[in-house]
Amino acid sequence: MDNLRVGTRDQTVNGTGYSGNGEPQDVLRWALAEFHPDIALAASFENTVLIDMATRVRPDVRVFSIDTGRLPEETFQCAAEAERRFGIRVEWFLPERAAVEGLVNGKGVYSFRENLDARRQCCRIRKVEPLERALRGLRAWITGLRRDEAETRRELPLVERDMAHGGIVKINPMASWTGLQVREYTLQHKLPYNRLSECGYTSIGCACCTRPIEPGEDPRAGRWWWEASEHKECGLHVNNWQI
Ligand code: SF4
Repeated sequence: MDNLRVGTRDQTVNGTGYSGNGEPQDVLRWALAEFHPDIALAASFENTVLIDMATRVRPDVRVFSIDTGRLPEETFQCAAEAERRFGIRVEWFLPERAAVEGLVNGKGVYSFRENLDARRQCCRIRKVEPLERALRGLRAWITGLRRDEAETRRELPLVERDMAHGGIVKINPMASWTGLQVREYTLQHKLPYNRLSECGYTSIGCACCTRPIEPGEDPRAGRWWWEASEHKECGLHVNNWQI
């Protein structure tokens, strides 16, 4: 693993041992054979395509999610449906109570609307810190990120070294898939999905920071819609390939 090339979009990633066809199922088979049980799948419950594919490889794959305290009800409904459908138990990580109390008592419950720094502080407390705990002790993690989701993700590699989390391996099996492919797979396999996606939501995060998009808008335009598009990341996913 020492020669892992960071910054590649190639389907063959030198030094990782992965040299498959780049399809999500193939990447997952390699990743779970290589890293299980020191690997976990991060689920946001917009859809359950990745969980479906991963549980076909390993029914005991670890799945975790972050409950920020501001998620929409539809996200929990999707998570509960996924647990029933795939026979899994999601590992939930919550923010530190004292940090959330300090934030809302000190700055109010909508401080994130005031400016970019305030928004990043909220994301840091509610998302980034819990993620750090979720990844502790792992050698690799799996995300559902796709290149077509946002201009900030156009260069997303299939496999990268996650320098923001101690250099563990970050695997993005869905990188080359489109939103249309996700929808078609979901329908074909009758998978659980987040019902907000039927109401114009193409990217689903905290309820207070997500709105439906208009036709022709970028898929992530509904996230922090009051900010410029180049800022539409919460700190969970750092551009490792630029390091
Ligand atoms: Fe806070 Fe909004 Fe970030 Fe959620 S998305 S953690 S509410 S700023």
